[in-house]
Amino acid sequence: IDQVRGNFIRSVTNCIFSEAFPTPLKGPLRLAAVSKDALEGLLDLDVAVIVSDEFRQYVSGGKLFPGSEPLAHRYGGHQFGYWAGQLGDGRAHLLGHYTNRKGETWELQLKGSGKTPYSRSGDGRAVVRSSVREFLCSEAMYFLGIPTSRAASLVVSDEPVWRDQFYNGNVKTERGAVVLRLAKSWFRIGSLEILSQNGELDLLRKLLNFVIAEHFPSIHSNKSDKYLAFYTSVVNDTACLMAEWMSVGFAHGVCNTDNFSLLSVTIDYGPFGFMEAYDPDFVPNTSDDEGRYSIGAQAHAGLFNMEKLLDALRPLLSAAQQEVAEMVLKTFLDIYQTSSRMLLKDGTCLRFIQLMEDTRADFTMTFRQLSEASAHQLRRRNFTQAWALQDLASHGRFSDWLNVYLLRLGRQATHSRKDPHSDRQARMKSVNPRYVLRNWMAESAIRKAERNDFSEVALLHDILRQPFLTQASAEQAGYADKPPWWAHQLKVSCSS
Ligand code: AMP
Ligand code: MG
Ligand code: MG
Repeated sequence: IDQVRGNFIRSVTNCIFSEAFPTPLKGPLRLAAVSKDALEGLLDLDVAVIVSDEFRQYVSGGKLFPGSEPLAHRYGGHQFGYWAGQLGDGRAHLLGHYTNRKGETWELQLKGSGKTPYSRSGDGRAVVRSSVREFLCSEAMYFLGIPTSRAASLVVSDEPVWRDQFYNGNVKTERGAVVLRLAKSWFRIGSLEILSQNGELDLLRKLLNFVIAEHFPSIHSNKSDKYLAFYTSVVNDTACLMAEWMSVGFAHGVCNTDNFSLLSVTIDYGPFGFMEAYDPDFVPNTSDDEGRYSIGAQAHAGLFNMEKLLDALRPLLSAAQQEVAEMVLKTFLDIYQTSSRMLLKDGTCLRFIQLMEDTRADFTMTFRQLSEASAHQLRRRNFTQAWALQDLASHGRFSDWLNVYLLRLGRQATHSRKDPHSDRQARMKSVNPRYVLRNWMAESAIRKAERNDFSEVALLHDILRQPFLTQASAEQAGYADKPPWWAHQLKVSCSS
């Protein structure tokens, strides 16, 4: 730990953390959202505590939990393909960890809690819109069954925060917010890279030994190939994670190595997006001019990151181990392709994806409506209630595909006694969500939140807890409808 006192910005060497204290938000603190699931399930907190003024202070940096020694983490990273040097927690504070009744240990981190030695030119703050998005999406991803950091609370203040020209073309005053987020570990690929790049190999070894001992119980700490085993595990789990992202059309937006967790969970929600019209060139982040992190290129970005992780580990690997690791790296795309939940999403083969691409059918609802359609509806091509299938059915080759699909289902029927269609529907509905956090949905909730109306944040949070279940309140809000016209004009950038 870097013991230089104070949060002033500097270049730090030979440590993994710097002591850094949150800067309390100014003005009245409003509790905009809480995750009961995270507070109760992960932190053993009774939700009754949330009404107190004290709680808002604790979860926004105004007060420290007893025993907490807050830290900012030093990491580096490759950003958009290039080594960016020291990055670090520029607006986040690690408060400590908590081991819950189930025996799980969770690290508590505030985001938006003020400057640290790693703030560079930033103000250490996060604005309401990006905090709402992070809060909602963390929880939504968890309930989609995708490994992710969690969000426990969201506090909004009146403290003004200025954001740059990237946001709708001008400097804009917004308000500061703080999210309390949780992960088993916040270490990233960039956590190792900075040590390796600076030749701080003792620390690199120490950090790796710690991460392996704490989070990779199947890797024996005294084995000579433990770093290789660690690498193999991260390559495998990251490939699986990214396949899960693809299965729900999730584009992270900023797949830099500093945003990729060593535990292969989704972290650092920024300008992410869920793909609507099927399009491999979908780029959620308007700051990503070259489309480096388009959804179709995402797996390759993952591969690049695994290459950078290997580079960080090289000084600790023998020549022979490096050769094996290079072979492991080459398996990344295969694991990504075969582990894909897409296979389960059904229907599907490449031809189906082609139909979606040609008709720009909605990714989420095409799969969902196919899951919901009865055999009778499919045979009669009765899609009056299914707007996405209507789009898909406009394709000249839709009938060919459907005939093959029905034949295949029929063949499965002769192998099983149960009604193949109800079986198929249940199975498909359990992996094809009806609701994902589309940009326009988040934006609609954000516009209200900017006026201190957090009702839609709460509604979305509640609905996205059961994304596979049709819910009246969601239908009424239009969350399963064709996106409204204004959705196409929405832009999300790095400025947050
Ligand atoms: P991101 O692109 O959000 O992953 O952030 C990249 C780096 O910039 C990380 O080191 C962040 O902590 C830092 N950063 C982003 N926004 C701010 C901010 N407003 N103030 C200070 N640091 C920031
Ligand atoms: Mg980040
Ligand atoms: Mg960020």
